[in-house]
Amino acid sequence: MSQMSPNQADAGRVGMISLGCPKALVDSERIITQLRTEGYQISPDYEGADVVVVNTCGFIDSAVEESLDAIGEALQENGKVIVTGCLGADSEKVLEAHPDVLAVSGPHAYEEVMTAVHDVVKPPHDPFIDLVPPQGIKLTPKHYAYLKISEGCNHRCSFCIIPSMRGDLVTRSIGEVMQEAENLAKSGVKELLVVSQDTSAYGLDVKYQTGFWNGRPIKSHIQQLSEALGELGIWVRLHYVYPYPHVDKLIPLMAEGKILPYLDIPFQHASHRILKDMRRPAHAEKVLDRIKIWRDICPDITIRSTFITGFPGETEEDFQTLLDFIQEAKLSRVGCFTYSPVEGATANDLPNHVPEDEKQDRLERFMEVQADISAEILSSRIGQRMTVLTDDVAEDLTIARSKMDAPEIDGVVYLEGEMLEPGQFVEVDITHADEHDLWGKLVEPS
Ligand code: SF4
Repeated sequence: MSQMSPNQADAGRVGMISLGCPKALVDSERIITQLRTEGYQISPDYEGADVVVVNTCGFIDSAVEESLDAIGEALQENGKVIVTGCLGADSEKVLEAHPDVLAVSGPHAYEEVMTAVHDVVKPPHDPFIDLVPPQGIKLTPKHYAYLKISEGCNHRCSFCIIPSMRGDLVTRSIGEVMQEAENLAKSGVKELLVVSQDTSAYGLDVKYQTGFWNGRPIKSHIQQLSEALGELGIWVRLHYVYPYPHVDKLIPLMAEGKILPYLDIPFQHASHRILKDMRRPAHAEKVLDRIKIWRDICPDITIRSTFITGFPGETEEDFQTLLDFIQEAKLSRVGCFTYSPVEGATANDLPNHVPEDEKQDRLERFMEVQADISAEILSSRIGQRMTVLTDDVAEDLTIARSKMDAPEIDGVVYLEGEMLEPGQFVEVDITHADEHDLWGKLVEPS
């Protein structure tokens, strides 16, 4: 009898049932290959398996029936079942027949299957692979991390070439995203910055399919994802949110403290005509109404946005509309850029390009107006007590951020005379403000 290495002795055992056509068989082979690469053993029977993967077929009614029967048998004989393959694309049908399955994914979902297997039985220790921590290698400081939830974009904003470079929206599986977020939280990350090209479109391409995190079904939708991220007990900040109507549903989560009351939502302009040429939602008045409703629901909300001055065809009147908008909207954090003709962008073909010095002049006028708004908002914080996250220390000074500030792009809170370790939540009383940053005094624990 051959001897088992210590790795093999510890290894989890996975049963595999493969149904369907040759394409499904190839998927099963790839799953088995990945399982073996990670050191799992393949069990030939139900009794010896820690978990059973059923790769299903959904081509015709009889194949659906056969797949559902196979899932039922595996549940009865083993109890721990992960479903993947064509029938898995209709997760509701599977869950309706077999609510006890641990995870459901569609065809070619190798990573989702592996994530589900990891949830049941951790991969055996591998001295080489384990040199990489579960949260992966990060280039950000230890206490915050970016969490990418999708790639690509379905919009076709005329100034942007991202969709032609990165393609249409491709959502990362919710199980994988949540596993990464959980690993990051366990590794000491205190703030997750959710990013993508279009964060609020999350799940649109997979029809908001139900995925699984720790065996629990969760819809691939930004609302459900935000709720689940909110359970990790750390700060969760949403970036690059396109102004879809369903964004409104995120605001109560902010008011309840589940995610940070911070919305990075690029509006780009306010003139109806320019927004139309940009191929963006073109209703500045509706945006103002929505902002009012958001503030009614969550008075603390920080709205960050970006705008473009000097877009082709922008007249002084259009620009004035933009200035009126920011004066009325009173956004807390704003970035502004002059239009720059990126090669390949369709906006370059629009008539009446604005001269460079005019674009620059409008940018400066815009920033002047916004500086006053920002200073007014920040000075209203003087005297308030707030929680901040420490980022760095400089000479006799701690640099921290409040819920209002995303790293790198927003302001900071200075704590003079304090030398605090990065990555700590502390309470401060705000004593001073300028148009960008705040100064505070540490509240000594009573
Ligand atoms: S600007 Fe953003 S929303 Fe518009 S096409 Fe580019 S990535 Fe998509």
